Amino acid sequence: MDTIIYVDNNATTAVAPEVFEEMKPYFTELYGNPSSMYRFGGELGKDIEIARNKVADLIGSTYRDKDNKSSEILFTSCGTESDNAAILSALQLSPEKRKIVVSEVEHPAVLSLCKDIQRKGYIIELIPVDKKGKINLADVEKAVDANTAIVSVMWANNEIGNIYPVNEIAKIAHKNGALFHTDAVQAVGKVPINMDENEIDLLSLSGHKLHAPKGIGALYIRRGTRFRPFIIGGHQESSRRAGTENIAGIVALGKACELAKENIENENIVVKQLRDSLETKIAEQISDIRINGDFENRLPNTASISFEYIEGEAILMLLDQFNICASSGSACTTGSLEPSHVLRAMGLPYTAAHGTIRFSFSRYNTQADVDFIVEKLPPVIAKLREYSPFWQDRNKK
Ligand code: PLP
Repeated sequence: MDTIIYVDNNATTAVAPEVFEEMKPYFTELYGNPSSMYRFGGELGKDIEIARNKVADLIGSTYRDKDNKSSEILFTSCGTESDNAAILSALQLSPEKRKIVVSEVEHPAVLSLCKDIQRKGYIIELIPVDKKGKINLADVEKAVDANTAIVSVMWANNEIGNIYPVNEIAKIAHKNGALFHTDAVQAVGKVPINMDENEIDLLSLSGHKLHAPKGIGALYIRRGTRFRPFIIGGHQESSRRAGTENIAGIVALGKACELAKENIENENIVVKQLRDSLETKIAEQISDIRINGDFENRLPNTASISFEYIEGEAILMLLDQFNICASSGSACTTGSLEPSHVLRAMGLPYTAAHGTIRFSFSRYNTQADVDFIVEKLPPVIAKLREYSPFWQDRNKK
């Protein structure tokens, strides 16, 4: 295949070569079942614990039990499973509480689950965001009460990159006797996280967003937080998540976390420079754009840019001809192209929301990628605007 300009790293990332090397033996010579009595299987349990400690290290969870194991990390299959496990556990453990508080801009892994729970009679209270996608803590105070089982607010938003004041929100949850969960799928590996210095009870993360493969995730459960397993069967993961361990995935996640920890500071500088350079150059060359999000508090890798009066899907199709891979701010729902719930919650006008593209960078991007996008994008936008009735109306005014 020709060279791909991959700027969709919030959707998924390339597996790091070091990670791939680390996981390979578990498909070939080290294929035993860690639950087996013989050493060929049983010894693999040690590799799981090494990986668990590496995940804990990345998110600043330093507690180790008497066997030097980090009992705060539970391996799951993905971010979605971690989110579901956290929220459903809280509801089952406090059946008398009938309310869940989440932000309007959560990922469907949380919002769709909430819709489902609502059908079972729960109250779902949505915390609004302002036009920059920011949350006002006063709105959280208003939403949370003694009937709230759990508050769940993401650490960082996948579409606009906003970072939320999760520890402050956790404090409000605790004041009201509720648990606090954060979906940190987009934050882990991109921004520093120190679980020893906050009071968050539960945190979700996902391997494929930080250069580990798909099919592996984790849930951080603070020591002392009660937890009801989501997947029930065997005794794996200290009886908190049944199912034979995905050992290759677990080892890969451990390695990816180790690499992220080593590189996080440097990557933040380099990746942020690429993102900023793209935003600046696009703003210089293309009129009628908006850059979305909270510039003071944003992931370093994410740019959400609205190209007014045209359709994001059309932009993506034309960019695809140059092997440029990005995402749009729309979701195909019930056959119609609705702008994303995040952009709608921010009150973006439809003419902007429809033309929104998310570019998300990783350590594997270069300035040459940015320059290539900046070369190809302006004629694409100009061509689509030529055919846009909204653009023609705008120019008549
Ligand atoms: N939460 C957020 C914020 C995400 O961006 C994603 C994936 O896009 C998920 C959850 C789901 O993660 P996974 O794909 O590992 O289930």
